[in-house]
Amino acid sequence: MAKKDYYEILGVGRDASADEIKKAFRRLARKYHPDVNPDDPRAEDKFKEINEAFEVLKDPEKRSAYDQFGEAGLEGMGFDPRQAQGFSSFEDLFSDFGFGDIFSIFGGGRRGRSGPEPGADLRYDLEISLDEAFAGVSKKINVPRFEKCHVCNGTGAEPGSSAEKCPKCGGTGEVRTVRRMGFMQSVSIGQCGMCHGTGRVIKKPCRSCGGTGREKVTRTVEVKVPAGVDDGQYLRLAGQGEASENGGQTGDLYVVISIREHPVFERHENDLFCKTVISIPTAVLGGSVEVPTITGKAKMQIPPGTQSHTVFRLKGQGMPKLHGRGRGDQFVKVVVKTPEKITKEQKELIERLKKTMGDEIPETKKGFFERLKEMGSRQ
Ligand SMILES: [Zn+2]
Ligand SMILES: [Zn+2]
Repeated sequence: MAKKDYYEILGVGRDASADEIKKAFRRLARKYHPDVNPDDPRAEDKFKEINEAFEVLKDPEKRSAYDQFGEAGLEGMGFDPRQAQGFSSFEDLFSDFGFGDIFSIFGGGRRGRSGPEPGADLRYDLEISLDEAFAGVSKKINVPRFEKCHVCNGTGAEPGSSAEKCPKCGGTGEVRTVRRMGFMQSVSIGQCGMCHGTGRVIKKPCRSCGGTGREKVTRTVEVKVPAGVDDGQYLRLAGQGEASENGGQTGDLYVVISIREHPVFERHENDLFCKTVISIPTAVLGGSVEVPTITGKAKMQIPPGTQSHTVFRLKGQGMPKLHGRGRGDQFVKVVVKTPEKITKEQKELIERLKKTMGDEIPETKKGFFERLKEMGSRQ
């Protein structure tokens, strides 16, 4: 099998953020999902490939193994990327996102019951900040939609007149078609074309809505977004979609959440990631630094002999868990900053340090420390 480039498959750069990867995946998954392309085996293959790439790149550990050693790195972790392609993972994949059956919603796939057609489901994309996702937020959104006509109350008949029993189906809304095949007789039942399954016809159509029974209204709807919501999850507001054209059920409103990028934090599920810069003396001697948290600031202890790019965990400082108690963690990567401008005195000190240490890289942190202490005692 040919070598695969997961970045190429998702169409993102090697330095793409977790958020970019997630967005690229979601865009492609929507396009190639088998529900959207029922008879196209190529789309299915493509979807599996996208799925596999995302399974690897969404996970920081797998991604880093893949970056360093390619597919061999993943095998080393005991992860078989091919397993991520399986059909069974479609469901998992979208339930992960809270997508559920969102594809069939927008594809209109869940129709097919007899009786009057229900109103359409609507989708509203709501962007919120990470802070709002942290605390939960209530938003008022304006939704343009078809509602029951206020003049005829959805009947489609001019007030004062009334709808009459459909002469074609006799008010049942269904028509039976009988076909003879030799001595056999086949009966099929379909929706009545004259009354569209309602069983009633309008003699005098309502002048306000032209007999459709609906009117376009922009309605303000309040959406309560729960704390801990993640990008791509949606809320279903039952009965807040469009009114049916012929007396069926009103559709639902789906509010799909997207979360704006945060200047400090990157999010991965319930965990938050950020970077902080520390000075060389703090890295060497240890100390306390102040780091931003989603709720404010926290003190973090840097142990002596800390290497640049070490990641520390602040337990319970991440995002709240959506369906449960507790919070994720915050991960802080410390980056040791090399000063660009130093004073004469500092320069002398560093030169003395260089004399004692030379250019050799100390083998252990302890060794490095001993040398530093030696230097201090000679001062
Ligand atoms: Zn009307
Ligand atoms: Zn009829």
